[in-house]
Amino acid sequence: MKTSCRPLHRFHPAPLLCAAGLALAVSAQAYKVYIFADMEGCSGITGSEQISGPRAAEGQQRMAEDMNACIAGCFAAGATEVVVRDGHAGGSNVNARLLDARAKLIQGPTPGVRYQELAGAAAVILLGYHAMALTTNAVLAHSYSSASIQGLWLNGRPVGEIGVDMAIAAEHHVPVVLVTGDEQTVAEARAWLPEVGVCATKRGTSWQSADLLPLEKAHRQIREATEAALRRRAAIPCLKLAYPATLRWAYLPKGSLRTHHLEFKPAPNPRYVEKTGPSVEQLLLGK
Ligand SMILES: [Zn+2]
Repeated sequence: MKTSCRPLHRFHPAPLLCAAGLALAVSAQAYKVYIFADMEGCSGITGSEQISGPRAAEGQQRMAEDMNACIAGCFAAGATEVVVRDGHAGGSNVNARLLDARAKLIQGPTPGVRYQELAGAAAVILLGYHAMALTTNAVLAHSYSSASIQGLWLNGRPVGEIGVDMAIAAEHHVPVVLVTGDEQTVAEARAWLPEVGVCATKRGTSWQSADLLPLEKAHRQIREATEAALRRRAAIPCLKLAYPATLRWAYLPKGSLRTHHLEFKPAPNPRYVEKTGPSVEQLLLGK
């Protein structure tokens, strides 16, 4: 297993001489990209019906299409290895038959590990993500559990899955180079890391509705944004965070509506839990 977090340099052909007689080093750089894919922010998805409702099969198809657009962008940018983590709910959503065969798909639970097989990756892409719980005009906004978590803070700052995942990737010395989702999702990503690449394929008009880009256009934009972000990956830093880190949860009372239900109202007295430790990944996963 590879243990370095830096791009691998496998090919070192002999220098070529250019017309001016100067040595021109030519090297093809092998590198691995890790795509962590959620479903709520995928192109064409506007509400719960496509996640776990009567149109769930369509949602799974949309997820696979966004994955394939992103995989195509990775290889266009010269990536030599692409790992895709099916990261929504239990991690078993897309039909592997639909996925670009050049990529490796990871499905199912990976207890104690947020990014299974991240070692050796040069970049992480957060694909199909969503804004943090209670963000207005954000499709299916939530933070991990729409049924039980009303809010989350990282070192005192409101945070959702984007900021937490940027922190975890940084703990493995890998930058998040691209975040895709709706307009609020990419704004949240930029607020955490101004240099990150973004691609919005829809504009939320509530927690359960959106204005959508035509799918072909959305997929083209994901492919192009992926390629562009990877080509400038050396200029995108890891998220910097003060340690020890503190995560604070606000838990909803049992029986509450889900945080992205249109009728949801924040609980006035949620149950707060706070933990401090040397790793955000450990805090999140309770290791
Ligand atoms: Zn999800």
